[in-house]
Amino acid sequence: MKYLYIVGSCGSIGTQTLDIVRDNPSDYKVIGMSVGSNLELAEKLINEFKPEIVCFRNEEHIQLTHLEYNPVIVFGDSGLLEIAKYHKYDNEVFVNALVGMSGLMPTVEAIKSKKNICLANKETLVVAGDIINQMVKDYNVSLTPIDSEHSAILQCLQGEKKEDVKRLIITASGGSLRDKKREELVNVTKEMALNHPNWKMGQKITIDSATMMNKGFEVIEAHYLFDLPYEKIDTILHPGSIVHSLVEFKDGTIKAELGTADMHTPIAYALRYPNHDLMTSHNLNLFGLNLKFEELSFERFPCLKYAYLAASKKGIYLAALNAANEAAVYLFLNDKIKFLDIEKIIYNEISKPIYENIEYNLENIVYYSKKIMQEIIEKYEVKH
Ligand code: MG
Repeated sequence: MKYLYIVGSCGSIGTQTLDIVRDNPSDYKVIGMSVGSNLELAEKLINEFKPEIVCFRNEEHIQLTHLEYNPVIVFGDSGLLEIAKYHKYDNEVFVNALVGMSGLMPTVEAIKSKKNICLANKETLVVAGDIINQMVKDYNVSLTPIDSEHSAILQCLQGEKKEDVKRLIITASGGSLRDKKREELVNVTKEMALNHPNWKMGQKITIDSATMMNKGFEVIEAHYLFDLPYEKIDTILHPGSIVHSLVEFKDGTIKAELGTADMHTPIAYALRYPNHDLMTSHNLNLFGLNLKFEELSFERFPCLKYAYLAASKKGIYLAALNAANEAAVYLFLNDKIKFLDIEKIIYNEISKPIYENIEYNLENIVYYSKKIMQEIIEKYEVKH
């Protein structure tokens, strides 16, 4: 039996993780859950899985929710940390399905309380990859990716030597705007950008896919997960979303992982790693597959270039990259800026020399992330 803590349990990854728990009740028990603002769904899931501890966004949300039993109730960002710290069982797994920077400190606390981590929150590794990797070693826990690309790479690397790897090739569907030329992006609306052709995901990551910042984050995640230099991490456009990523070896062998565009399989693998023994109903039909690949252009998708740039500058630049993106996507979703302003805001932030001399530690990562987000949001909310 594994004891699960799922933060972000009402989101896309959270609900799909709960599908797996529902189908495998003798293997998994949910001990902690955090819920978002969809209170109808929250109420249904809490009453179904009856976790011991529940985190709501705020006090008002608990008043509006009818629970059939009496769990420990906590609130807000501090509540997320309490879920991460809650400790009762030997075999505890922390599934981090939060979106954005708010996912970092819960990961840190969960590692400290000796929980194994299944990570869907990519910002954790983007902003603090070196620190998290050191903590995983120090506390002797495991960290397994839920992201489909990294799940694919992890599978391709099983039984292989790192020295034999020529490069990782991360696939990108191209997002909702992949068929548009640069000049057509000027007047892209929120609705157009949110309409992803292959994957059903939350709003933030759908916009990140349209700008290709999501792929940039995944390059950085891959660097920290697989301990390979950025020169050995490539990206490729693959509109079919069938091949979830590939690994090329020195002798010319290329290994790939294929599957449907559905997160149940990567979640199942993260929970059961290195086993493939959890039944899911997602079977890929091999007939008529679209296995087309194309070059992913930095000129068409500058955010990808900016991710490599911030990664080469390291340290607080990675927090700046993420914070600027998070603020810009928030502003775009609230109709405060245009689509192409997102990349400009990001480039402006990571071009500032001031971050060079700031020490890379958790305190500064959290402090500067908040500061950058606040400053960008205030600037555009007042101005426009
Ligand atoms: Mg992904």
